[in-house]
Amino acid sequence: MDKKTLTKGDICPVCLSRIDSITIREKGKYKRQYVYAIHFYKGGDGKRHRYECYLGPANEYVVAEKTNNIGLKGRLEKDRFVEYLESILTYYKISKEIDTGKALELFDKFMELLTKVAVSEDDKKKVKEVLQGWIDKLK
Ligand SMILES: [Zn+2]
Repeated sequence: MDKKTLTKGDICPVCLSRIDSITIREKGKYKRQYVYAIHFYKGGDGKRHRYECYLGPANEYVVAEKTNNIGLKGRLEKDRFVEYLESILTYYKISKEIDTGKALELFDKFMELLTKVAVSEDDKKKVKEVLQGWIDKLK
């Protein structure tokens, strides 16, 4: 199983260079924690230099979550977009604030994604089985 957060040696999502280390800093009166990727490089002067890339809050987006409540996370979390999708789908399932047309539009986008990721015959077979299951439910 893949590790869920970025660590030393991973590719930085901000600058696309390898991460040399990760650091967490506390800031502000609420002492919130923020995560940074640290990069070292040898400059033209032959000396070692460093720069940082901001990856987001260590825990959650406190202010943004007040109006969205979908578990927004910083770039440190690798699977955050999959978790957002799950959270959004759960929201729509509970709230029922979506109509058939919009739901079908989303379904179409998921199918487009599935046809891109399901490249092996085994994956294509899995997709067909799931689709057949849904077709059977509509009968
Ligand atoms: Zn970076």
